Amino acid sequence: MNTVVKFWGVRGSIPTPGRTTVQYGGNTSCVEIRAGGRIIILDAGTGIRLLGRQLVAEFETQPLDLTLLLTHTHWDHIQGLPFFEPVYRPQNHLHILGYEGARHGLEMVLAGQMESPVFPIGLREVPANVRIEELKEMNFSIGPVRVQAAFANHPGICVGYRLFTSEGSIAFFPDNETVPEGAPPPQGAVATDTPAQAFGQSENRKMIEFLRGTDLLIMDTQYDAEEYKGHTGWGHGCLDDVVALALQAEVKTLFLFHHDPNHDDAKVSQMLAHARALVAARKRKLHVEAAREGATVTLPAATQDA
Ligand SMILES: [Zn+2]
Ligand SMILES: [Zn+2]
Repeated sequence: MNTVVKFWGVRGSIPTPGRTTVQYGGNTSCVEIRAGGRIIILDAGTGIRLLGRQLVAEFETQPLDLTLLLTHTHWDHIQGLPFFEPVYRPQNHLHILGYEGARHGLEMVLAGQMESPVFPIGLREVPANVRIEELKEMNFSIGPVRVQAAFANHPGICVGYRLFTSEGSIAFFPDNETVPEGAPPPQGAVATDTPAQAFGQSENRKMIEFLRGTDLLIMDTQYDAEEYKGHTGWGHGCLDDVVALALQAEVKTLFLFHHDPNHDDAKVSQMLAHARALVAARKRKLHVEAAREGATVTLPAATQDA
């Protein structure tokens, strides 16, 4: 049985419908993974609405047992949950896993966006069996799929996941600022007596080890190098740094993700071409794609279809 990855939302920060984003899509972060007989959903941005419609059409009255892994509770990663159709069907189970939000518990944050006056139906009132679990461990399993989590460099508590399937591994870091070597530590992130350079090196090294040999890496590449100069410390990735990181970690396929809401299709294509040129200049084999809404990727081949 193959592992199939499908992109339902690839945009960062806010949905961007319109003519200029038709090619890559305007929905926010949501990726579906079918592996080992499980359906695992990464993030619940607005793309999860479309996934919900697909699941209801495909499985009809058959009970669904779904797992949703949240990277963090920023709006663009949870906003689609109230519109996820399977939670309105009593036969379904949804297990939501994530780490605690900055000050509030995970359940409080998720229920908060479904409270009056901002939404008419409470999360605890939906007919499906929804179970919310705050993770404490960084290693756990979803059926036969082993999962490792690692903290991302992003404001508040935010993680990335690496999922090990029998057909290969998938790493998901939708929001992350790659720490270039020599970069100063982000405010409040570490003890202030850590020398800046050592911090950059150790963070970079930790991430390289976490990602080493990943078959499919889906990572925040919100800014190009020029834009990044004005956005250091914002918690989002610089394309050139992410390509360098993927090369160092010997990743097989990199998917550019969390496209900037101000980037139209032409700009995303241009960034993809730039990333491929960086790899070619280093005479390396890393395969690079830009994540596109509706596209599926099959492991072990890791090619983007549709
Ligand atoms: Zn985001
Ligand atoms: Zn975020």
